[in-house]
Amino acid sequence: MSGFQSRRRFIAGAVCPRCSEMDKIVVDLDSDQRECVACGFSEGRPEAPAVEEVKTRVSRASARRVETPAQVVRLLDPGSNAASDADE
Ligand SMILES: [Zn+2]
Repeated sequence: MSGFQSRRRFIAGAVCPRCSEMDKIVVDLDSDQRECVACGFSEGRPEAPAVEEVKTRVSRASARRVETPAQVVRLLDPGSNAASDADE
């Protein structure tokens, strides 16, 4: 059938930045390169933005705050009640 071309897959709803045609963008499954079958526009895989690292840090900081009141776990354990009593 068709074996001379690399594996390509259409991206549903994708609009070509050059010819503005929709559903004409295919992605090469091997190289992640995008290509427009209508005008021949091709685009390499976009680099991952470094901003994501900052987002992770921020979310971690907020998650830390939530962890603080998690000391409630001690109240759920009847055994720790006597332990903390002896500790003081
Ligand atoms: Zn195009």
